[in-house]
Amino acid sequence: MKGFAMLRIGQTGWIEKEIPACGPMDAICKPIALAPCTSDVHTVWAGAIGDRHNMILGHEAVGEVVEVGSLVKDFHVGDKVLVSAITPDWNSLAAQEGYSMHSGGMLAGWKFSNFKDGVFGEYFHVNDADGNLALLPEGMDLGAACMISDMVPTGFHGAELADIQFGDNVAVIGIGPVGLMSVAAAAIRGAAEIYAVGSRTNCANLAREYGATDIINYRQGDIVEQIMEKTHGKGVDKIIVAGGNNDTFDQAIRMLKPGGIIGNVNYLGEGDYVKIPRVEWGCGMGHKAIRGGLMPGGRLRSEKLARLIVANRIHPEKLITHTFQGLEGVEPALMMMKDKPRDLIKPLVLL
Ligand code: NDP
Ligand code: ZN
Repeated sequence: MKGFAMLRIGQTGWIEKEIPACGPMDAICKPIALAPCTSDVHTVWAGAIGDRHNMILGHEAVGEVVEVGSLVKDFHVGDKVLVSAITPDWNSLAAQEGYSMHSGGMLAGWKFSNFKDGVFGEYFHVNDADGNLALLPEGMDLGAACMISDMVPTGFHGAELADIQFGDNVAVIGIGPVGLMSVAAAAIRGAAEIYAVGSRTNCANLAREYGATDIINYRQGDIVEQIMEKTHGKGVDKIIVAGGNNDTFDQAIRMLKPGGIIGNVNYLGEGDYVKIPRVEWGCGMGHKAIRGGLMPGGRLRSEKLARLIVANRIHPEKLITHTFQGLEGVEPALMMMKDKPRDLIKPLVLL
């Protein structure tokens, strides 16, 4: 089969591979919708997870099941399925402890395009199919469905990590597709003010539509000053970090109230250390928590997020700004993700 792969750090290309084998609890799927991710860009061009050779990229897909293992109970050949980007081993001790994303080691629930070939091929392999697939709801827009792989669950995980409560004033730093879903999640959880930090116009417009009350442009001044001014010097209760760089925590600590929580889902792709400002962190005693997490993945989460779409409460299809046709489309879609033209939010590939 054909697949679009990371050949080595900084280099991508099309390769031929064997169709993956199906174990007793697994499924083999063919993609019907795919999307590249900023994480694919970090993986290839920043070498963020180390070198990988001839590894098929991609972890965001809607698929059709073409084979199931003998122990799979709930999925059958021909089923159209939502595929979680994070596919844990649900019988692991880590999953039983509540950290499915770290089953098999830190971040090891992230298997596609990390420990095994990803979804940008004619076929892809899903481990623990009953735990990691979900049926595509009848009539669901394929763009919205594809965003259930990663953008929706990751953005929502930011709101879970930050423990957004009703009435909280919240800053969402970064409003690419992940941060936009964090804005939607914060609104659903009952945030009061939502300060959305970004600079692209279409992202700012969508952030407002999803529930942001203020847009903070980091290119037009220090975001700490802007947010402290808007909150009359008090700062915010909760912060979701879904973009920025290694200095973003420094800014986040400065604008967070004592007792506040920072939920980070941003993938820190380079550098060795993250700076925390000592005095603003209460000399270590400020009760300002930083929680960073990979989203948990799995079927129940996909099914619940799909319900929010079916019930018309979230509209992730609005993230899709560019659409490509056919498997070949993953290459220009990924390059677009790398170059980030200003009118891009998220590209989609339909097969
Ligand atoms: P984008 O690049 O589309 O968005 C990044 C956002 O951050 C943009 O709004 C951008 O603004 C903003 N930004 C950039 N620099 C700064 C800065 N210095 N200060 C403040 N804001 C800034 O990324 P995605 O939404 O696709 O992904 C966000 C992150 O989430 C990535 O690191 C990705 O790898 C990660 N991720 C994590 C996952 C997880 O499970 N934890 C899963 C999937 C993704 P502008 O408007 O100027 O572009
Ligand atoms: Zn992704």
